[in-house]
Amino acid sequence: MLNSDTVLFAVLGNPVSHSLSPVMHNTALSEVGYNGVYHAFKVKDIGEAVSGIKALGIRGVSITIPHKISVIEFLDELDDTAEKIGAVNTVINRHGVLTGYNSDCLGAIKAILEKTAIKDKNVVIIGAGGAARAIGFGIISQGGRITILNRTAAKGERLARHLGAEFQPISNLKKTGCQILINTTPVGMIPDTNVMPVQREDLDKTMVVMDVVYNPLKTRLLREAENIGCRTVNGVSMFVYQGAFQFELWTGKRAPVEVMKKAVLNALGKGDERR
Ligand code: NAP
Repeated sequence: MLNSDTVLFAVLGNPVSHSLSPVMHNTALSEVGYNGVYHAFKVKDIGEAVSGIKALGIRGVSITIPHKISVIEFLDELDDTAEKIGAVNTVINRHGVLTGYNSDCLGAIKAILEKTAIKDKNVVIIGAGGAARAIGFGIISQGGRITILNRTAAKGERLARHLGAEFQPISNLKKTGCQILINTTPVGMIPDTNVMPVQREDLDKTMVVMDVVYNPLKTRLLREAENIGCRTVNGVSMFVYQGAFQFELWTGKRAPVEVMKKAVLNALGKGDERR
């Protein structure tokens, strides 16, 4: 029941109409009996929206595309990880002081560690955008060795330099000695679900293969990897774990992870039916 004590949370992005954060967080709030509500705001001007967080006393927000970098200049503080990554996807409002965090990094690492250790492993990241940056930082902090593969060489080389990693063209996957392969590009996402970011022949059954894309849940990359016997990590695990971190930061309560995952999977199932 909403009342005058209800605490407001939100996601700020553009577009946001397909975001699964509202269903995940509202389910979690209701599950733990927290008097809060989570809303999606389509935001063009992130500076004005951040003023609104303070003015309205919004307790916590998720930041999504295209504002993860541009939001930083409007915040009061950054935690160490967000500062090193240079991107924020989580903000908490502590009595008018706004602090930025990066839960994409934490969520991805938690999802990978469920399936494999990272220390001393050869990790190949496909892509060089915001997700690659956040995950790359997490891999380095866990003691993994990274090779970046990217369509645009200049961008891939820049990220590789930033992480102290190597850069290779995507066609060189076989030469990297890859043990953990992570797709951070949107390749394979609906509606183009029949494509994958690497050649099927370049996959090896010894690899652990992760895809950050979660719609569809099983991308072509994950299907092909499973078919040859690879262990896989899907994008929903990362999404739910990054959301669980946000929930615990904002509410101080333990996140009901299984309930959150179920809510996201149900929402994805309904999405599939609509198509
Ligand atoms: P971004 O900053 O725009 O970067 C996208 C990267 O993908 C770039 O390196 C780009 O290569 C590459 N790319 C795009 N289209 C490509 C194509 N057709 N072929 C080859 N490479 C292509 O995006 P982002 O913020 O990193 O997000 C990437 C994906 O991660 C999105 O699908 C997003 O939804 C997903 N994501 C998932 C989670 C989760 O919790 N599961 C969290 C964050 C993000 P160029 O450099 O050549 O342009």
